Amino acid sequence: MNRVPECIFCRIVAKEQPARLLYEDDECVVLEDIAPKAPVHVLVVPRKHIATLKDSAQEDEALLGHLLLIAARAAGGKGLSGFRTVINTNAEAGQTIFHLHVHVMGGRNMRWPPG
Ligand code: AMP
Ligand code: ZN
Repeated sequence: MNRVPECIFCRIVAKEQPARLLYEDDECVVLEDIAPKAPVHVLVVPRKHIATLKDSAQEDEALLGHLLLIAARAAGGKGLSGFRTVINTNAEAGQTIFHLHVHVMGGRNMRWPPG
């Protein structure tokens, strides 16, 4: 699996950096966000380092689908019936960690459109 040594999510996936892991499989891990913006806020992180959604390729099609399936399952595991899934792409959209991840947020009413 490709990895970027200074990437915090690569380090978490490799168990070199502690995190509150909720689930893991061959393709991804699910962890608690360290600074939750909702009562439930977890991140679905692929093991593969892909910097942004824009950097995903055709070969990532199955992986991207898997991340969404696991996001829905993680929300169910947290008892959420409604939830927000977010992928921020690049700084202007709020991306701060450049290793693709899906936010799953819930436990409060969500506003639309997001800011
Ligand atoms: P984004 O701004 O979309 O790139 O999301 C990055 C998310 O990662 C933010 O919600 C951060 O709170 C979260 N985060 C940053 N560092 C860690 C960490 N060490 N463990 C868990 N979540 C983190
Ligand atoms: Zn990475």
